[in-house]
Amino acid sequence: MKEYLKSNIFRVISDVAEIEGVDAYVIGGFVRDILLNRPSKDIDIVVVGSGVDFARKVAQRLRARKVTYFKNFGTAQLKHNEWDIEFVGARKESYRLDSRKPIVENGSLEDDQKRRDFTINALAIGLNKRNFGELIDPFNGLQDLKSKTIRTPLDPATTFSDDPLRMLRAIRFATQLNFDIELKTLDAIREMSSRITIVSIERVVDEINKMMASPRPSVGWLLLEQTGLLQHIFPELAAMKGVESRNGVSHKDNFYHTLEVLDNLSQKTDNLWLRWAALLHDIGKPKTKRFVAGQGWTFHGHEFLGAKMIPEIFRKLKLPLNDKMKYVQKMVLLHLRPIVLSQEVVTDSAVRRLLFDAGDDIDDLMMLCEADITSKNDSTVRKHLANFRIVRKKLKEVEEKDSIRNFQPPVTGEMIMEAFNLKPCREVGIIKNRIKDAILDGEIRNDFFEAYTLMLNAGKELGLSVVNIDPQYISMTNKC
Ligand code: ATP
Ligand code: MG
Repeated sequence: MKEYLKSNIFRVISDVAEIEGVDAYVIGGFVRDILLNRPSKDIDIVVVGSGVDFARKVAQRLRARKVTYFKNFGTAQLKHNEWDIEFVGARKESYRLDSRKPIVENGSLEDDQKRRDFTINALAIGLNKRNFGELIDPFNGLQDLKSKTIRTPLDPATTFSDDPLRMLRAIRFATQLNFDIELKTLDAIREMSSRITIVSIERVVDEINKMMASPRPSVGWLLLEQTGLLQHIFPELAAMKGVESRNGVSHKDNFYHTLEVLDNLSQKTDNLWLRWAALLHDIGKPKTKRFVAGQGWTFHGHEFLGAKMIPEIFRKLKLPLNDKMKYVQKMVLLHLRPIVLSQEVVTDSAVRRLLFDAGDDIDDLMMLCEADITSKNDSTVRKHLANFRIVRKKLKEVEEKDSIRNFQPPVTGEMIMEAFNLKPCREVGIIKNRIKDAILDGEIRNDFFEAYTLMLNAGKELGLSVVNIDPQYISMTNKC
């Protein structure tokens, strides 16, 4: 462990502690992570005294220029080389029922460790000369690290009631580190789940995104469901759980299916937004579920409804309402298309349309569809994968031939207006669509000359007269 403390940073902090005659400790996530062999560059320093004064002295010695003081909170942040160091005075906190904002007083190291969320996050290491490198572990955090256990330092009801966000942090750490939540701690989360509603959605989603970035995000979603938190933070996803039967016919549980898809996909990619798309791909199913005699359970149009639900879900969860949202929406909308393709004779025209609609996200879409195969039957899985290989091959061939991925119409709206002397109007749209459809259906090639010829004919059919012909077209006609 001392290896990690060899850096110049810790020597300087230790010297300042000696000179100033105060006790200083490195605490929390940094200590946990070096013990887990996942060293980080974020250091939290607790001093028994003023964190701000201490930070100022350390900054002087390091000649660090990037220091920010938060006097109201009694904290300071210093950036030096690759390190990000936060200083705080040891504190004792007490809470009121209706708020996450504590009443803060100066306290001892132990007071400070008690206000931490979990035993594994309450570990401290002495930085003074007399105790340099010594682990201070009043709640057996080291033992919990070894047995991979998430446990609160105090009675869990107190820890969670003081700050309900900690319930989510418990689940996030369990997911991220592959730890178990101790039973009493888990029971307390179950009992207090409704208290999560006093936490701001931004903080909730920060934790969820860390969970989503973990190797098996399903661990977290299952815990959220089991503890009742899911119902409060994401009811639309909770609604996916359950199986209905009629006339002895049942459908699969869409919640568990979704989590399988999410885990499958997470083995292949770290793309957070594609992971969100996997989580949301069937979100329209509960509302489109029908039992149809002779057909069984159907979810017709769930991809359309699902895509329509995305902006509202993103807005509620305060996820970004930008191109990330559009991307997730597109994935949800298109997630059945490669499957439909793979079940039919794959025509060039269908492949071109898929390429046009998916654009550069086609590879992501294919990855999502492959993750969506959750059958337990090996031969079914093999069959689907083989079909997708055919679709991928076809996609490649068509793309090489026709370059549809980043489709730019060879004849633009401006060219159409110029040719027929039009202002922007309905006819321009009709002609543009006619050209696009002809290219996608393979009637003409994705090429200026063929598209312009079609434009002239389409204009005539609409009763328009040609006023200006593009000089480039004229020179091409002359060559023919
Ligand atoms: P990560 O950096 O991976 O998110 P972390 O444990 O370092 O994990 P931080 O948010 O950086 O989390 O917090 C640093 C430390 O502050 C934690 O290890 C913990 O001791 C303490 N802490 C953070 N948030 C809380 C909280 N809500 N309640 C109690 N202690 C907390
Ligand atoms: Mg941290």
